[in-house]
Amino acid sequence: MKQRLKGFLLLISIIFIIAYIASEYYTRRIDAEIEVYRSRVDILYNAHEVLYHAVAIQEDLYSLLSGAYKNPESVKEQLDHLDQGIKGLSTSVSYIYYTGRADALFKTYSHHVEVIDTIYPKFLEKVKTAIEMKDERERTIYLKEAVETGEGLEVIVRELDKFLEEEYKKINSSLPTVTEQMRWIRNVTGILFFIAMIVSSFLMFYSCRPLKRTLQPFLKAIKAGDYHAANKVEADNEECSREIVSTFNTIIERIKEGEKSSESLTITDPLTGVYNRRYFDIRLDEEMNRCIRYGTIFSLSLIDIDHFKEINDTFGHQVGDSVLKELVLLIRDSSRETDIVARYGGEEFVIIYPCTPKLGVLSQVERLREKVEGYQFKDLPRPVTISIGAADSAGKTNPALVIQEADSNLYMAKHRGRNRCVIIGVTT
Ligand code: GH3
Ligand code: MG
Ligand code: MG
Repeated sequence: MKQRLKGFLLLISIIFIIAYIASEYYTRRIDAEIEVYRSRVDILYNAHEVLYHAVAIQEDLYSLLSGAYKNPESVKEQLDHLDQGIKGLSTSVSYIYYTGRADALFKTYSHHVEVIDTIYPKFLEKVKTAIEMKDERERTIYLKEAVETGEGLEVIVRELDKFLEEEYKKINSSLPTVTEQMRWIRNVTGILFFIAMIVSSFLMFYSCRPLKRTLQPFLKAIKAGDYHAANKVEADNEECSREIVSTFNTIIERIKEGEKSSESLTITDPLTGVYNRRYFDIRLDEEMNRCIRYGTIFSLSLIDIDHFKEINDTFGHQVGDSVLKELVLLIRDSSRETDIVARYGGEEFVIIYPCTPKLGVLSQVERLREKVEGYQFKDLPRPVTISIGAADSAGKTNPALVIQEADSNLYMAKHRGRNRCVIIGVTT
């Protein structure tokens, strides 16, 4: 899929580049053509200017010659306009030759322009000399010469005018074609662009589908909080989905680590609410150290439910759980505020009695045992009994030794028939 997608995108890009180059090429060509037409229109305009002013100067010269009026100012003014017109005319003609777009029609009338360009400086000079001449006789001679030159100029300009008629028709018929070509190029480029956009969007959408397929089980597992299942989701070969899946996995790992470290910070057992084993170990060490430092004694009792497995097997695990919870209430009820109650494991609980020797514990554990024996547990049609083994820290510096002694007393209690408390061989 990835290779095919790449191929498609490459093809679209090539089509796009070709379309762009073609449109750029044709647009430039048409722009150049339009520029040529603009120059040809300039020639038309300037030729008419030249014609108009040449005729006007001629008439003024006749008037000056006949003495109809003496002031040559109007001639001077016309001369400037004529100058401008001729300059514009020859510039536009040169431009068309330069672009190489001189056709047969253009060549015929541009010849007239060249002639105008040759005659014009002579005519201009003669007119200027004539109108500045003070001597009447000489002025008349120069005026006559200027009129003759001007007549030659007028003939050529009129001749040119005939060709310009044809030129005008040509421009009028060609310009719409050029405009049409321009519009066509614009439409084709627009359509190609549109097609490229649609195909690209489709490919983009299509390329997202495998990624979605890969990520779906992932997202589902994450939403359900099942990080373990999310971890097992394999990425396919797409580089992009591999990257996303590995990112997700890193996040999940971090979450798990976070959960683990926050777990290690908890101190209570979630089922019964008493302290957990981890916290008990810490407190036991603390108690031992305190006793060593102050020369006091603490006691410890291990409580184990008798035949708890049977309760679970007969009445179900849930009943077993509620027995554990209710037993904790009874333990708490018979303990002092300063006693530390913890879940030692499974159905075993432990109590630390600070500053209490083992003899001081005996009556308390015995009271608890009796209470449990006579207690009616919820959903349990039979009594529950517990065995207790207790010990104190007298003569010991290691907390493990206290536990060991309590544990062997508990074992003894079990061995002697259960539902009893044992403290160093003293059995109740
Ligand atoms: P004994 O009189 O010798 O102590 O017999 P027992 O059946 O109580 O001893 P055993 O250690 O064989 O069984 C303890 C049982 O406690 C096994 C286990 O399934 C159950 N248990 C441990 N933790 C839990 C818990 O959190 N909830 C429930 N319902 N049962 C638990
Ligand atoms: Mg046990
Ligand atoms: Mg037990």
